[in-house]
Amino acid sequence: MPFIFQTEISKLDQGSNCGNLSKWCFVFQLFINNEWQEAVSGKTFPTINPSTEEIICQVAEADKADVDKAVKAARNAFRLGSPWRRMDASDRGRLLYKLADAIERDSAYLAVSSYLMLQQSQTAFERIYCNLVFAVFRYYAGWADKWEGKTIPVDGDYFTYTRHEPVGVCGQLIPWNFPLVMQAWKLGPALATGNTVVMKVAEQTPLTALYVASLIKEVGFPEGVVNILPGMGPTAGAAIANHMDVDKVAFTGSTEVGHLIQQAAGNSNLKKVTLELGGKSPNIILSDANLENAVEQSHIGLFFNQGQCCCAGSRVFVQSDVYDEFVERSVARAERRVVGDPFDFKTEQGPQVDQEQFKKILGYISSGKREGAKLMCGGGVAADRGYFIQPTVFGDVQDNMIIAREEIFGPVMQIFKFKTLEEVITRANDTKYGLAASVFTTDIDKANYVSSGSQTTVWDQLHRLSPLSCFLLS
Ligand code: NAD
Repeated sequence: MPFIFQTEISKLDQGSNCGNLSKWCFVFQLFINNEWQEAVSGKTFPTINPSTEEIICQVAEADKADVDKAVKAARNAFRLGSPWRRMDASDRGRLLYKLADAIERDSAYLAVSSYLMLQQSQTAFERIYCNLVFAVFRYYAGWADKWEGKTIPVDGDYFTYTRHEPVGVCGQLIPWNFPLVMQAWKLGPALATGNTVVMKVAEQTPLTALYVASLIKEVGFPEGVVNILPGMGPTAGAAIANHMDVDKVAFTGSTEVGHLIQQAAGNSNLKKVTLELGGKSPNIILSDANLENAVEQSHIGLFFNQGQCCCAGSRVFVQSDVYDEFVERSVARAERRVVGDPFDFKTEQGPQVDQEQFKKILGYISSGKREGAKLMCGGGVAADRGYFIQPTVFGDVQDNMIIAREEIFGPVMQIFKFKTLEEVITRANDTKYGLAASVFTTDIDKANYVSSGSQTTVWDQLHRLSPLSCFLLS
C-alpha cells in the first residue's frame, strides 16, 4: 500500500515548505487485483519534484509481464457470473458514489498537502480543480443505472431491441497534465458501465493515481476490477495497446503517440480505440470585443496550468484595428503573472512538469526568435532551480513558423494579426490539430459565423454573458 508520513503531511497543511518531503524515500507499488505488488522485474523509477528537481519517491515500474498479470486479473473480474458482472447497476453506482465521497474526504491530503502540488506542481489556485474529480465520479455514478437501450420499430413481426453491454477489459493510458481529472474521466464511464480496467498512468505523475487506487480498494470494488500500473509508455503502455486480451484502449495524450496506439490496435486484435489528442487551438479576437475581458480570458486560456492544457488557446488571432492595444495589454498582463512556489496562494504559475518539457519549451522559444517572431516579454528561465519558465509572449507570428504549427504545451503565447472573418477562419482551420477554438465578440451573428466555419469545438465568448456562455459543436 502506498504510504506517506502523516505527521509531516499535516505540517504541510499548515503551510510549511514542501521541500522537506524530498528527503524521504517512499516505495509505491503496482495495484493489481486489489493487492500492492512489486514489478516482476523489481525495477523502480523516481518521481521528481519539479519545483526543486529532487526525488520525492521511487515507484515500481510496470512492464509487459506486469501488464499480463493485470489483464489476467481484469479478465477474471469480468468473467461471466463474477461478483462484478452480477452486481446490480445501482450498486455499481453506489460504489462510485462511495469512491467520490472518499476522494472528497481526502482531497486536502490528496491535492494540497501532498501529491498533486508536489509532483505536478499545480498551483494553489488550480488545486480547486480537484473538486472536479469527485464531481466527475458522482456524475458517472448517476449514469450507472440509466444507461438504457432502445426498442426499434423494424418492418415485419419482429421484436428488435438494443441492450447496452460492457465492452470488457479496457486499457486506459493517461497523460500527466491533470492527473486526477484524467483518471476520473477514464475510470468513471468505464466502471459505471460495468467494464474492468487496466490503467497505465503517466510516468511523471503516478502518485495521485496510486492513492486513488487505495481508495478503490477501501470502498469495496471487487478484486481485479481496477488495476493501476505506473510505468513507461514504450514498454507498459505499448504492452496494453498491443495486448490480445484487451478489448478496448482509451488513450489521452500526444498526437504522435495517438498514431502508435491506433497502429497497435490494428496490428493486434483490432481492439476498439478512443483517442483524445493534442491541440493548437485558435483564439479569435474580433475588433468589437470587450478588450479588457478578451485580454484576461486569453491570458488564462493560454497560461492556465503553466500552458499545459490540451485546449490552450495558443494561436491568438487579433483583428488588425485592435491588434496593437491587445498586444500591449497582453504583455502587461503576462509581466504581472506571479511565477513561483505552487504552495503559495499568490502564485499563478508553477514549474513545468519535468526537465524534458522544460527543455522542449525553451527550444520552441529559441525557434520563435530564430524565425523572426517578435519576442514581447519573457523568453527565458524564471528561477535558479526547478523547471520554471517566464511567461512569454510572441507578437507578429507568421502561420508557417514552428511556434505557429507545433503544440508547445508551455507558457508561450503566439499573437497573429488578421483583417477579415473569411481570412481568419481559413487560417484558424489550417492546422493538423482540431481540438478547440474560441471567438470573442459582442455580435452573436459574427460568433455564429465563425463557429460554423470552424472545424472544431468552439467557445463563443459574448460580452455580457458569462465566459464559456455558448458551447457549440461545428
Ligand atoms: P504522451 O503521448 O507522451 O503520453 C500519454 C500517455 O501515453 C502516457 O501515459 C505515456 O506513458 C503513454 N505512452 C507514451 N508512449 C507510448 C507508447 N508508445 N505506447 C503506449 N503508450 C505510450 O503525452 P503526455 O506528454 O503525457 O501529455 C501531453 C499531451 O497530451 C499533449 O499533446 C496534450 O495536448 C495531450 N492531452 C490531450 C487531452 C485531450 O483531452 N485531448 C487532454 C490532456 C492532454
